[in-house]
Amino acid sequence: MKKIALITGISGQDGAYLAKLLLSKNYTVVGADRRSARDDKWRLRKLGVENKIIIEDFELSEITQIIRIFNKYKISEVYNLAAQSFVGSSFLNPISTSDVTGLGVLRILEVIRNLKYKPKFYQASSSEMFGDVLESPQTMKTPFNPVSPYAISKLFAHYTTINYRKAYDLFTVSGICFNHESPLRGEDFITRKITTGLSKIKAGILDCLEVGNIDAKRDWGFAGDYVHAMWLMLQQKKARDYIIATGKMYTVRQFINESLKYFDFDAYWTGKNENEKLVLKKNNKTIIKINKKFYRPNEVEKLLGDASLTKKQLKWKPSVNFKNLVKIMSLSDLEVYNR
Ligand code: NDP
Ligand code: GDP
Repeated sequence: MKKIALITGISGQDGAYLAKLLLSKNYTVVGADRRSARDDKWRLRKLGVENKIIIEDFELSEITQIIRIFNKYKISEVYNLAAQSFVGSSFLNPISTSDVTGLGVLRILEVIRNLKYKPKFYQASSSEMFGDVLESPQTMKTPFNPVSPYAISKLFAHYTTINYRKAYDLFTVSGICFNHESPLRGEDFITRKITTGLSKIKAGILDCLEVGNIDAKRDWGFAGDYVHAMWLMLQQKKARDYIIATGKMYTVRQFINESLKYFDFDAYWTGKNENEKLVLKKNNKTIIKINKKFYRPNEVEKLLGDASLTKKQLKWKPSVNFKNLVKIMSLSDLEVYNR
């Protein structure tokens, strides 16, 4: 019998990579998708899986839709990737973020608890839960210290996932993923904002890219590697939570500097703090500048994960390092905007 996997957030970055992975493992993939006027299937198309999955209407705030899907299919594994996933937006929309990113998980787990059959459940937790970090690198023992509505909602979801495992003996796990990127990453996130921004400047359709805190540090990995760890977590005998990270940390500035190489931009940084800018040597044109609009009301200055236990127990390791990640993303966007 083919296993049936339900992926919520199928239209997102991880949804596409995970769908591709599960199809390659002969799963039937049901993709839960909220109705959208936009073309939200472009990622699935890009990976060549759009017509290989079953799409079902799904809105995380509508419990009846969740019940309907679980009654329609005998689902073996649930990957809950749906969320309002952008930290910046969560400050503007804290209530809807909490409803979807936090309470949404409780809705799914309540439905699962009341089912006759018991699917395994994966929750997409986030390194943002470590927030204003209390130790570095962060391990499974590091206390959480969230500093955004997004992170607080994710923490609620994380503890709810643990509670349903302990209280009801369900196979529910939570992967604490550090930032993971790809050419399919949303364009609001800084990595993709940089690679699309530089591509547009190169193509002459953007003058200058505006960014926020370029000294923020992140542990950036490749999304394709991270969905593999998610799948591994649901194949274990024992349900437990893991950190998924590369163990290397870089600044936004380093990401920009590394990316510049692929656009043949010879440029230098000048100025301080919010007056800092990146200027082309050949004509003194500013191509990147700081706009305080992109500062967060509460910033997470640095995140660095220790995934040594994950590597040992799941026999998982990231295959794409920082330099390769920047290369893959830069070349992909260069092609999109400079055909
Ligand atoms: P994306 O933002 O690319 O995808 C989020 C998905 O959730 C989209 O398909 C979106 O649909 C869907 N969604 C949003 N709101 C609702 C809703 N109300 N009902 C149903 N679906 C909804 O995120 P990623 O793929 O990058 O990340 C996957 C998960 O992992 C997210 O939960 C994210 O918070 C978490 N995570 C991601 C990290 C990363 O670095 N990428 C790091 C740590 C955790 P739509 O297209 O309609 O907006
Ligand atoms: P996050 O770690 O989930 O918040 O992922 P993001 O890619 O959105 O942000 C990573 C870091 O980049 C954060 O510390 C941001 O403050 C910083 N950053 C600096 N400039 C920008 C910007 O213009 N957009 C975004 N999204 N982040 C920025």
